[in-house]
Amino acid sequence: MTKTLKCDVLVIGTGIIGSMAALYLQNAGREVVLLERGEVARGASSGNAGILAFPEIIPIPAPGIMKKAPRWLFDPLGPLSVPPAYAAKIAPWLWRFWRASAERSFRHGLKSLTDLNRLAAMEMAHVAAMPELSHLVSKTGTLDLYDSEASLNAARRDWDEKESAGFTFQRVGRPEIEELQPGLAPQFRHAMFSPDGLQVSDPYDFNRAIFDLVIARGASLRKGEAERIDAVGESTIVTLENGDKIDADRVVIACGAWSRKLVATLGSIVPLETERGYNTTLSPNAFNLTRQLYFNDHGFVVTPLSTGIRIGGAVELGGLELKPNFRRAEAMLKKAGRFLPGLKLEGGKQWMGFRPSMPDCLPVIGTARVTPSVIYAFGHGHLGLTQSAATARLVTQLASGEDTEISIDPFRPGRFS
Ligand SMILES: Cc1cc2nc3c(=O)[nH]c(=O)nc-3n(C[C@H](O)[C@H](O)[C@H](O)COP(=O)(O)OP(=O)(O)OC[C@H]3O[C@@H](n4cnc5c(N)ncnc54)[C@H](O)[C@@H]3O)c2cc1C
Repeated sequence: MTKTLKCDVLVIGTGIIGSMAALYLQNAGREVVLLERGEVARGASSGNAGILAFPEIIPIPAPGIMKKAPRWLFDPLGPLSVPPAYAAKIAPWLWRFWRASAERSFRHGLKSLTDLNRLAAMEMAHVAAMPELSHLVSKTGTLDLYDSEASLNAARRDWDEKESAGFTFQRVGRPEIEELQPGLAPQFRHAMFSPDGLQVSDPYDFNRAIFDLVIARGASLRKGEAERIDAVGESTIVTLENGDKIDADRVVIACGAWSRKLVATLGSIVPLETERGYNTTLSPNAFNLTRQLYFNDHGFVVTPLSTGIRIGGAVELGGLELKPNFRRAEAMLKKAGRFLPGLKLEGGKQWMGFRPSMPDCLPVIGTARVTPSVIYAFGHGHLGLTQSAATARLVTQLASGEDTEISIDPFRPGRFS
């Protein structure tokens, strides 16, 4: 026999977006039930690089990107790949991505990301000050490394934009680089250093600590997969795969890369795809890593986590079903070994995760067209951890019918319709 549960707010998905939204909703006095079909906090949010990358305000679809892309695509293990089996399916998304790289759209994206990431920095500061979470966030500083002076100069416009947005950094040469990160290969003579760079100790631990806190404060977890959502008069009914129903006053959809199918049941067509990313986590003493390192000309980062040294990045436009190609993780690890001579490469753990990505590199935050009771919160691409607290603030304001802190028009679900 099927059952119907009634609740105030149902949050679907326990990744960083769902868990953080639950925390904020609870702080606003809402009673929250979380729904999860798999293991709690084991989606994309569990294995990412752990960087709170607030200065990353430059949309990936930027003018000139389509000239660079073929060069990357030519290298099968390079930073960007499209598996042949998925090429036809991803074509409409790539078309929209290309359109988003036009100067006008780029500037719109830049402003929208700047507003969101500034809010994100402010909100995350509140979260990081909570006694239950403060030990999980630290300021290590970020070193953005370039292969040559020409390559850093080519990125000058991006750094100028970041500076105008109020983020601080300084250009450094070999002596400072050696001081900031001893042991880097001598080829790295040009870098930007952001002393305020923040990170979490480990993204799974951070996500899990938020989830556990929300449960300890009275929220409950329901296991199951949401299959469809129906707006029936004043009610919103979520039907699970076993036929059980949840009747909620508000529903938040935070299903990461899997959100498209669910919102389609409400009639929303969103061009959500996944940018699959890879990494390898080595033991914490594989290298004396002092801070986050971005290898900008190679599309990967190295982060010192409490659980190990994580080397990862890459974008594979391969959908949700194809098997992982861990040669991508191996290729990045091999390069890291060259860039950090002395890095102990043995015994690493490989991982692949699904970034939930929109073609314009902006998340989807807004209400369903058919009912304001269903709130969409997904599509954060490369920046879900970074933007989680800002998203949670906006979701909570939408749930209580308040004005939002910043305009959410750039993030509206129907912007590609
Ligand atoms: C290699 C890599 C490195 C990254 N590095 C960073 C970084 O340094 N900083 C940063 O800010 N971001 C980073 N990201 C991006 C970030 O990880 C994602 O944007 C973020 O994790 C998305 O969070 P989410 O909660 O939306 O999705 P997820 O964490 O994937 O959570 C979605 C949850 O929804 C559940 N679910 C799905 N469908 C249903 C359903 N129908 N019913 C019930 N439950 C459902 C899933 O089981 C899952 O638990 C990185 C990503 C990758 C892949």
